[in-house]
Amino acid sequence: MTILENISLAKYTTLGVGGAARWFVEADGDEEILAAVRFARAQGVGHFLLGGGSNLLVSDEGYSGVVIHMAKSGLAWVDEGDGFACILAGAGTEWDQVVQLAVEKNCSGIECLAGIPGSVGASPVQNIGAYGQEVSHSILNLRALDLETEKVVDISASECGFGYRRSLFNSTQKGRYAITRVVYSLKIGGAPWLEYRDVKQYFAERGGVQPSLAEVAAAVREIRARKGMLYAEDDQDSHSAGSFFKNPVVRADAVAGLAALAGCGAEEVPQYPTGDAARVKLSAAWLIERSGFTKGLAMGRAALSSKHVLAIVNRGGATAGEIVDLRDAVLDGVQARTGIRLEQEPVSLGFAPPS
Ligand SMILES: Cc1cc2nc3c(=O)[nH]c(=O)nc-3n(C[C@H](O)[C@H](O)[C@H](O)COP(=O)(O)OP(=O)(O)OC[C@H]3O[C@@H](n4cnc5c(N)ncnc54)[C@H](O)[C@@H]3O)c2cc1C
Repeated sequence: MTILENISLAKYTTLGVGGAARWFVEADGDEEILAAVRFARAQGVGHFLLGGGSNLLVSDEGYSGVVIHMAKSGLAWVDEGDGFACILAGAGTEWDQVVQLAVEKNCSGIECLAGIPGSVGASPVQNIGAYGQEVSHSILNLRALDLETEKVVDISASECGFGYRRSLFNSTQKGRYAITRVVYSLKIGGAPWLEYRDVKQYFAERGGVQPSLAEVAAAVREIRARKGMLYAEDDQDSHSAGSFFKNPVVRADAVAGLAALAGCGAEEVPQYPTGDAARVKLSAAWLIERSGFTKGLAMGRAALSSKHVLAIVNRGGATAGEIVDLRDAVLDGVQARTGIRLEQEPVSLGFAPPS
């Protein structure tokens, strides 16, 4: 195992900001992960598991611990013989490769998650979701290293504590497990998921013919590209960490008060069911726009995406400080206008997340 020192982290993230990691390890297997964690303990510092850096905000001061880059990749497809197939993927595999393999094999379950940047290992961490699908519905189980006991553990989907942008890996057991492999269970020949408005509209405009899984995945990539949500070097609007703010879940009876503060009728507030009649999910994008923030609004070299107010983008050479200033302006502005304190979605490294 090679332990590198003072490695700039900006180039390992899609936002492209932040300082250096004091130590950095490219870990290509369990032994290297454990060796890096032991090295961190010996130095009396923390460790951080890094995937594709697409949900990450690194401070300008960097990180004083050991960054462990989860590098081990690999994909295998197994027909289970009962109408279902499994894809087994190493943590360092690019997530979109899993989607591509699934649609090539005519397997449904993750076609609407096409084009989400990042790694397999991070896919369960915040339970990635888009266009009406969440990865938790297609995860069978995962393998991880328990960094406390140094044992390999298999964790079933039902034990992962999945919720909206949530799992035990980013909440109660944060930092404890290094996920090394994920098994996805997919339906062979299943119909594509076409419930989400943008996707439905895309096909309605093209004659309403039932699309294949591959066509849905391609459509999702196209829709994402239009919104700057498909990472590309030449699209500055995609130099982000994706949605910077989570959609807040509030008590249903709080919507009238929120609407009064926002100066509109309760029926104008977009609301989505949560499965609990007493609680509704609101649109963070609507709250931000209602609070006076517009697409493309810039503060220094940080800006809201010109295509989507939910994403904060690096317009070139931004510092983490500039990203944080814009984030705080949005958080405070939305709270002042609507009474709701939004929650940051990306993980903060090298500084505390906002209060
Ligand atoms: C343009 C763009 C669009 C996006 N669109 C979406 C979207 O539609 N839906 C969505 O849900 N997200 C979206 N995201 C966010 C991001 O792509 C996902 O959160 C992704 O899963 C992050 O993967 P990563 O490998 O880059 O993780 P990183 O950013 O490297 O890490 C994120 C977290 O996961 C932890 N982690 C990483 N690997 C492991 C591992 N092997 N074991 C344990 N913990 C680990 C890290 O420690 C960190 O806490 C978008 C981001 C961008 C830039």
